[in-house]
Amino acid sequence: MKKIFAANWKLFKTPKETREFFTQFKEVSHKATGELVFFPSAISLEAASTSLAGTSIKWGAQNCHSQAQGAFTGENSAQVVKELGGSYVLIGHSERRKVFGETDAVIAEKVAFVQSLGLIPMLCIGETLEEREGLHTFRTLETQLHLGLAKADKSKPVVIAYEPVWAIGTGKVATPEQVAETHTDVFGILKALGFETTPILYGGSVKPDNAAGLIQQPHVNGFLVGGASLEVKSFIEIASV
Ligand code: PEP
Repeated sequence: MKKIFAANWKLFKTPKETREFFTQFKEVSHKATGELVFFPSAISLEAASTSLAGTSIKWGAQNCHSQAQGAFTGENSAQVVKELGGSYVLIGHSERRKVFGETDAVIAEKVAFVQSLGLIPMLCIGETLEEREGLHTFRTLETQLHLGLAKADKSKPVVIAYEPVWAIGTGKVATPEQVAETHTDVFGILKALGFETTPILYGGSVKPDNAAGLIQQPHVNGFLVGGASLEVKSFIEIASV
């Protein structure tokens, strides 16, 4: 399966900084060993679209509403992502779930809507530290996948990003053994749901010095990278593993 290296820029980089990043990144992007996907913040999407036109580098939004348009002040439209030439929308990132109160039911609507436009949802799942320590990781992931994919079309692409919440932005990366065990579980759950060809990315404090060990684990088909994707050097090092 082709690997995917995705960059979640969260609320960082202005349109000017986005253009500057891509001017440098395009010089080294040939080193990547898989598909490259960037998720800039919403107001920088047009800068990404212009900078990446004519390249094979993909991009998308970090969130969208489950409808194309309407009285939804402050929301993002996947229809706009499509019109600008984007390919993906990140759905259900743990910060969306925790900070903005997104439920699995809302996430399921978004996944289905993104697919209906011919875009690819990258659905994020992951357990909290409390859930891991309480031995509820499997149950949490099974619930998030079952509910989040409830309205998804199995004949259309979807990507899963497994991101343990306790490893996001904390510098505490999951060990290769934890990643191997959990990705094998996620693969099993997806298979039971009829999504066995779905790529599974790992996310959570991926850095150039731990990427090589993690990519070798079973059912790890790439990474979703936050902090280390903001610099050209560190992200291309990760995407070259
Ligand atoms: C993320 O934001 O999805 C993420 C994985 O962040 P970081 O790599 O900084 O932990």
